[in-house]
Parts: sequence; C-alpha cells; structure tokens
Amino acid sequence: MTRFAPHVYRFGMTMCHDEEDARDVVQDRLLAMVRSLKTYGADSSLSTWLYAIAHHACAKRRRRRVSAPRQVVSLDRLDGADRNRLASSAPSPEVTALSNQQRTTLEAATRSLEPAQRVVLLLRDVEGLSAPAAAGALGLSVAAVKSRLHRARVSLRAALAPLREGVATAPRRHRCPDVVAALSRHLEGDLSARDCAAMEAHIEGCPSCRTACESVRQVLAMCQASAVPVVPAATQDRLREAIRDCLAVDVPAR
Ligand SMILES: [Zn+2]
Repeated sequence: MTRFAPHVYRFGMTMCHDEEDARDVVQDRLLAMVRSLKTYGADSSLSTWLYAIAHHACAKRRRRRVSAPRQVVSLDRLDGADRNRLASSAPSPEVTALSNQQRTTLEAATRSLEPAQRVVLLLRDVEGLSAPAAAGALGLSVAAVKSRLHRARVSLRAALAPLREGVATAPRRHRCPDVVAALSRHLEGDLSARDCAAMEAHIEGCPSCRTACESVRQVLAMCQASAVPVVPAATQDRLREAIRDCLAVDVPAR
C-alpha cells in the first residue's frame, strides 16, 4: 500500500479527471490486488499488473460516463503569462519539485491529451515504466505504445510551447524536418545513427528547431519531476482496514 497507492492515485487522478473516482480506483484496485495476490502470475512485474487493472477501472468509469458531457480541460484557461512563465522557468532535470503553477499547468496540458495518448505518456514519462512494461500494462504492442508516445509528446509540447517561441527566434524554415518527433524516437532508441546525425546537423544551423528540442527536454523533465500525491488519509484508513480484514493478520496501525 505504501509503495503503490500514491502512484495508482496519481494515475487515477490523471486518467479519471475526478478525485472521487481516483480515490475509488485506489481503494478498489489495491484491495483487488491483495485479494488476488495468490493468483498473480510473476510473468509481469507487480506494478505493470497494477497499472493494467487501474487502467481497466478508469476506462470502465469513462465509458459509464459516456452519455454525460465530456469534460475537457481547455488550455485556453491558461493565460499567456502562465505559459510564458512555464517556458522560461522550466526546470533542469536536477530540479525535483515543480512550483504549484507549473504543476497545475502541466496537469491541465496532460489532461487535454486524448486518453489513448495520455495513458502512454503517463506510464512512460511520468511513472517511468519502460515501453515494454507500458505495453504489457495496456495490452498493446511496443510499436503501438511508441507511436502513441511520440504523438503524445508532440501534442504536450505544442500545448505547453510558448507562443513567443517563433517570435523570439528565427522563423521556422520551410523545409525543417520534424525534429520533435525525431527527438522522441531518439529518446526511445529508435532513431538510426544516420538520421540522428542528419538531425544534429540541421539543429546546429537552425535556432527554431534547437529551441523546439530544448522545450521537449524541458517538458519531459517536468513530467519526471511531477510529485507523487499523498493519498487522502480517510482513503488510506479504509484501505488499511479492508486489507487487514482480507488478510486476517495484524497490520501495524498507522
Ligand atoms: Zn529547423
């Protein structure tokens, strides 16, 4: 519970858009995990298995609400100052904590992604699963995970890119390659040495593409730095109690 509950809670918050749903998902899924530990096959890691059942639970909740108006967090709600602040002060990889403003902005941008893209970004770039582990959790091929991941990273960067990017630097050249998608493939180890060299040569002479690559790295660093939330105390208590009942052994009181 200590190790997995906060991660499942964050997953639920991002995928379900709703704190109450996220609390239910944590409670239901961790309890389901405890109940079925005996049948758990060790062919996948415990976290992969847990994300798989949490993903299933969130998808089911989304389907149930399909007749309800679709809740989309609009990026228009972010004002220009916030976007610029985000772009100018995005943390280096060493930074481990985001400001509240950055966290809110990143969350809104992440939630604006299509669920199919959001879930791969969440598992790969926020939760840090490998592409094969994310594929295992989602029941997809590694190739499908990577293709969604590249689209998600491109979309997230676009959502967070400051409008001034094209103003502050030289205008994007007409025949620029898609450096953002190429960088994403490179980060997954899927860019050939030849293509990589060609990209580097282009970036060397193209300030706007250099800026674009830098902003991808900043966005990914922010994803990795996003804090794991604290599961609400009442949910922890209910879960602890349920686990205690389920295992019928003494679980140390909090
Ligand atoms: Zn360029």
